[in-house]
Amino acid sequence: MPINNKLKILIAATEVTPIAKVGGLGDVIGALPKALNTLGLDARVIIPFYGAIDRNKYKIKLIEQNIKIGGETINLWRTNLPDSAVPVYLIEHGFFNGQEIYSTALANAPTDTKKYLFFANAILRGLKAINFKPNIIHLNDWPTAAVAGLLKTDYRNDKFFKQVKTLYTIHNLAHQGPAGPINYMAEGILKSGLVSTVSPTYSREILTKEFGAGLEKTLAKRKNQLFGVLNAIDTDFFNPATDKFIQKNYSLKNLEKKSENKLFLQKELGWPQDKKTALVGLVTRFVWQKGIELITEKFSELNCQFVFLGTGEKKYEDALLNLARKYPNKFKVLIKFDEKLAHEIYAGSDIFLVPSRFEPCGLTQMIALRYGSVPIVRATGGLKDTVNSQVGFTFKKFDAEEFFNILKKSLNIYYEKPRIWQRLQLNGLTQDFSWDKPAKEYLKLYKKLLK
Ligand code: ADP
Repeated sequence: MPINNKLKILIAATEVTPIAKVGGLGDVIGALPKALNTLGLDARVIIPFYGAIDRNKYKIKLIEQNIKIGGETINLWRTNLPDSAVPVYLIEHGFFNGQEIYSTALANAPTDTKKYLFFANAILRGLKAINFKPNIIHLNDWPTAAVAGLLKTDYRNDKFFKQVKTLYTIHNLAHQGPAGPINYMAEGILKSGLVSTVSPTYSREILTKEFGAGLEKTLAKRKNQLFGVLNAIDTDFFNPATDKFIQKNYSLKNLEKKSENKLFLQKELGWPQDKKTALVGLVTRFVWQKGIELITEKFSELNCQFVFLGTGEKKYEDALLNLARKYPNKFKVLIKFDEKLAHEIYAGSDIFLVPSRFEPCGLTQMIALRYGSVPIVRATGGLKDTVNSQVGFTFKKFDAEEFFNILKKSLNIYYEKPRIWQRLQLNGLTQDFSWDKPAKEYLKLYKKLLK
């Protein structure tokens, strides 16, 4: 470790909130480096420069041109994470200039291997071009995994990278990249210095056949170098006391103001305004992982309103839209990505659903807790690590009836036992989901690597 020098960390990823976000990964990469810098580290981020990124809004500047990679060239751009001194480097190349962040929902089009192998090379070449020599390259999910392999092969004799160590964080084991001679998820697991995933429970679950997504044996080989660091949320961005997206700010001290957000949301959704009726929210990607099919027609019997926001696979979107068509007074379904509406749902809902089949960490339940919306989650992965009976409700079996019953039970408490309900809300609001703690845990892993 350099003396009198800050520990230098390069965080390589494919998303960073708010510049380019698809889901939880973006939120993590947008918040972790700020928390690391607060601890005195020099953490920087590198991502592809997507066509959809607003270069004026984020004041993105060209810093290095025509860096050669094989027969190709890249340009390197730079900005800071908004309201911080965290540098974000952006790699410009034709591979990335489309409007979508990923070519498909799972980033597994046949061309993706080539694209992200190129990205890995571009990261290493880019570092040399700007002469930033990190102590650690912190890789995140399979699109960055090839860096670990390249450092052991093509760049093995490159003096610039001689001391560089790698940490590989698995945000979602299910996405491993396109099928081909190399499984990049496995490459990251086997070739990185240390491996981590985003909750303690998921770090144990993925060693089993049920959750291992075919890589449980690969992971077993790194069992002693596999750690679980629970994600956190950006507690400034998700703060009901200051949130600019919501109608009425509130906190522990004036929680009764929360209901004004419900009234506003009901109006926006075209429903009659009614403080009493329980509003149940869900904000997610509509994909297999998220357990959307556990929401059935039977839910229309419950005394509440449902608002679902998300995008994803058509079959799930259609199933939910059908419910909304059939029971317009019960269900509203909004198929889009909408940050403002998401915040309005966290603030305006009484109950928040996260029925995931598996969940590496999950952020929405933490956000819901912070907004006093009581979560009902399936007890798996990070959901299990963040929700207990003090703050919400859990169900074990991946089963529509169990889910229905626990929701019914929670509604009963909501209507009949307001004091217990308020206790749940207050307990949730006082949880600490800031990045201080996980940042310190990542620092420990970085130091372990440098020993
Ligand atoms: P995942 O990373 O698997 O998508 P997480 O729970 O870890 O799930 O993170 C989801 C993040 O994305 C949360 O910040 C959530 O609010 C946000 N999000 C998901 N879908 C939408 C949407 N349609 N509109 C706005 N925000 C969304």
